[in-house]
Amino acid sequence: MPQNPSVQKWLKQLPRQSLVFLDIDSTLVTTHQRNQAIIKAFCKAMEAKWPEDCQRLSQAHCQLGDYGYYSALDRLKFSSQDPQFLQDLAEFWRKNFFSNHYLDKDEPYAGAVEFVHRLIKDGHQTLYLTGRHKKAMWEGTLETMKKLGFPISEDILILKPQVEQKDEIYKSEAVAKHKQRPASSIWLIDNEPLILHQMMEDHPEVELIFFKSCHSQKKPEPEHLLTIDHF
Ligand SMILES: [Mg+2]
Repeated sequence: MPQNPSVQKWLKQLPRQSLVFLDIDSTLVTTHQRNQAIIKAFCKAMEAKWPEDCQRLSQAHCQLGDYGYYSALDRLKFSSQDPQFLQDLAEFWRKNFFSNHYLDKDEPYAGAVEFVHRLIKDGHQTLYLTGRHKKAMWEGTLETMKKLGFPISEDILILKPQVEQKDEIYKSEAVAKHKQRPASSIWLIDNEPLILHQMMEDHPEVELIFFKSCHSQKKPEPEHLLTIDHF
């Protein structure tokens, strides 16, 4: 049973056989441990080339609520004499964050696993709609979601087929495709305002829940939406 009274109330009022799209990263699961592991691996791989920078960077601490790894570097007041160092870190992070390798570091937000089980038990059509890349993250997503206890199968999992596609466009197109199913109401839960604003524009009939964790800050946080930080 979800722990959040707002979520419990919402579940009770949710019309039967609704369609619910669920984001994964920074909505159902935390990602700061994945970022931490990637920084650690980068320091290990690069310590011979940049011993001082790696020594300093290894003290970076990624926290819940951080978007990416930049905040951890800011807190450390990290800078490097060599601009190539940060470029290599960015490239290493991008390659590894969007891969199967470190997904086992993610942990569910409080109540998230029970929440998804409850949706499915109540007969709602539940689809994971994530910006994770299909080619690089399909197996790892299935495996780690299962390990964390989420209900998961290939037919309820939607990953991004084209790496270069913008998340908000890909998600809007996926919603356009799947909203054709008969459903008494359609909902989408996501932590990224960019996605939520795109949905408001393209699919005004889709109802939204803002999961307040961390985001790109490319769009303002939406007001007047049900806003939660756990389930
Ligand atoms: Mg997300």
